[in-house]
Amino acid sequence: MLLLFSGKVYPLLCPYFNGSHATYSFVENSTNCLGESCLKKEYAISKEDALIITDVQNDFCPGGALPVPEGDQVIPILNDYIKIFKKANARIFATRDWHPPNHISFKAQGGPWPPHCVQQSEGAKFHPDLKLPSGTTIISKATDPLREAYSGFDGTELAHTLKTQGVTRVFVGGLATDYCVKNTVLDARKMGFETMLLLDAVRGINVELGDVRKAIAEMIKNGAEQATLEDFPEPLEAPPAEDPDTELLEKKPLTRVETKKKARMRPRGRYKRVRTERG
Ligand SMILES: [Zn+2]
Repeated sequence: MLLLFSGKVYPLLCPYFNGSHATYSFVENSTNCLGESCLKKEYAISKEDALIITDVQNDFCPGGALPVPEGDQVIPILNDYIKIFKKANARIFATRDWHPPNHISFKAQGGPWPPHCVQQSEGAKFHPDLKLPSGTTIISKATDPLREAYSGFDGTELAHTLKTQGVTRVFVGGLATDYCVKNTVLDARKMGFETMLLLDAVRGINVELGDVRKAIAEMIKNGAEQATLEDFPEPLEAPPAEDPDTELLEKKPLTRVETKKKARMRPRGRYKRVRTERG
């Protein structure tokens, strides 16, 4: 009994669960989670999984033509996901808005948005800090001047490519939560993919206050699950060698692989801290 309560049950509690009231708190643009789907999971990534990075382009980041607030903050998190998927030899996709200069979504054509992500422009490039590995499949969307396409699946080869590669589960992050991420996630669900929203790697526009919250709720209602880096079992990088190993280090320097092996055996301090602070 003691073991059960002290060792097994507690770690399963959602770190954002408010213990004094039986409710889940929710703050927009945070990594808070809703309902049961925030129970901790351990995702083991395989070749049946794919990472879909949505529209992390200059124009959607601060300083761009249609900046998503804090849009650039998803980049280091996505780089960590990229490492996880690359290590598992899982497929990585990066979608991009790739508009002709007279695209229907632009204000001059009667659309809601300023011109953005025009083909070949600087603004349409992926953010330079995003570390897309070689072998990333680029999916260009909304290339037809007369059609808007928020979803990475809309008018593209994405679904076909995923299916021919045997992918059954997709993990989606990027920009913006309430537009292209939402529509990509909803389409992935419609097409039968198990779909994970990478909650710590998305940011939204919130044209109307509450849009992001509604978007996340809609994705969950349609069967998407939420995940954050905490839900992946392995530490991403070997932390610098610490005191307990000092003697050993003096005798024989560790190789990179050995250092990583040791790192895996250590508690995951970085994530633990985050969970504690918010718990
Ligand atoms: Zn667009």
